[in-house]
Amino acid sequence: MTATKILLSESEMPRNWYNVVPDLPSPPPPVLHPGTLQPVGPGDLAPLFPMALIEQEVTTERYVPIPDEVLDVYRLWRPSPLYRAHRLEKALGTPAKIYYKYEGVSPAGSHKPNTAVPQAFYNAAAGIRRLTTETGAGQWGTALAFASVQFGLECEIWQVRASYDQKPYRKMMIETFGGTIHPSPSTLTEAGRRILESDPRSPGSLGIAISEAVEVAAQNADTNYALGSVLNHVLLHQTVIGEEALLQLAKAGEVPDVIVGCTGGGSNFAGLAFPFLREKLAGRIDTVIRAVEPAACPSLTKGVYAYDFGDTAGMTPLMKMHTLGHDFIPDPIHAGGLRYHGMSPLISHVYELGLIEAVAKDQRECFEAGVRFARSEGIIPAPEPTHALAACIEEALRCKETGEPKVILTALCGHGHLDLPAYGRYLAGEMTDHELSSEAVKEAMAKLPAVPA
Ligand SMILES: *Cc1c(COP(=O)(O)O)cnc(C)c1O
Repeated sequence: MTATKILLSESEMPRNWYNVVPDLPSPPPPVLHPGTLQPVGPGDLAPLFPMALIEQEVTTERYVPIPDEVLDVYRLWRPSPLYRAHRLEKALGTPAKIYYKYEGVSPAGSHKPNTAVPQAFYNAAAGIRRLTTETGAGQWGTALAFASVQFGLECEIWQVRASYDQKPYRKMMIETFGGTIHPSPSTLTEAGRRILESDPRSPGSLGIAISEAVEVAAQNADTNYALGSVLNHVLLHQTVIGEEALLQLAKAGEVPDVIVGCTGGGSNFAGLAFPFLREKLAGRIDTVIRAVEPAACPSLTKGVYAYDFGDTAGMTPLMKMHTLGHDFIPDPIHAGGLRYHGMSPLISHVYELGLIEAVAKDQRECFEAGVRFARSEGIIPAPEPTHALAACIEEALRCKETGEPKVILTALCGHGHLDLPAYGRYLAGEMTDHELSSEAVKEAMAKLPAVPA
């Protein structure tokens, strides 16, 4: 029997992040200035981001070295373990081998610190004093609060109202790490006040919270904005997950047949999948790579591939991505981290190229998978990765029918210790599904900005 836990030593930690762009058959379309519709330059992004991150956003280098200061903080929880889910396999009666890369060992309990730490580092190095951001379920806010305090930065966070009310422990965690947190929409910003005027009981959305955090950063010279997903540099930082997993699977003597991961903005999925995509593009492996999104917010499977704003108020540059429309507000499903109207431009591009697949899952099927996983593996997953687990179990049960001993790899991108009320609701039979109707999609799409082809 192969090992349950496959570990790397600190000396085996990856020293570089991997940028998939130079290995793709074509580069992703440029990000456009919303006024001129011309590609944005570094100057356009400088009010929000430090130059080091702007350079990483557009780099065509295949590898970007991880600074020593960042590696030092990574060592608090990295390398993260890769597990073989022997007990889940047995419970399912499948010949498939299931591996999961567990990111719940980080200070925030998710993969988010992998990018929060370098973002705080580069901002501090550029003389910035404060970071603003949005957070959905609270994972990103927790990660950035932790990362900020490592490098002496203040951290101010707008949390989507629905999650702020559902998950009070995230607020306490953020404040313990020294951050400040507001529910969004808030009366502190123009963007928040505008939403509250039309809907005083707005549950908020990531798009609205982004508008608020960007507004404050844009108005203060000593303040920058940090984004926890979607952008190229965020996906880049997350590739430590996949680089480690490659080494760990090699130790186990395995090659994955299928990789499944959940996608909100796409960062944990890209982090795990892109190093394997490199191997696939080089012809060394032939792995199916599958993104899993919530049926309530299906940007890849039901959205259109078009230029759209990253936020609700329309302040960000235009990105070509799979989108449900920038003012789309998804139903308040429990996987708060998957409630974003768009998909990262890089994942969208890779999807358009046919290099990855996508499926959508209803939340009850996901929680069923989460409970099944918890009972066999002993880890209660965050609501987001239950989407990946649902697809993972679906694949493993297919293998049971065909008798194929496929190797399935997934990212267990966070634990659900602060999401227990959602499990409580599921176990009490109170959870509902929220599949998005085609009419709702059409309606949301009507407001896409007009960009000539
Ligand atoms: C933020 C978050 C997500 C969604 O973001 P991605 O960029 O798609 O990874 C998923 N899972 C967890 C645990 C998160 O914290």
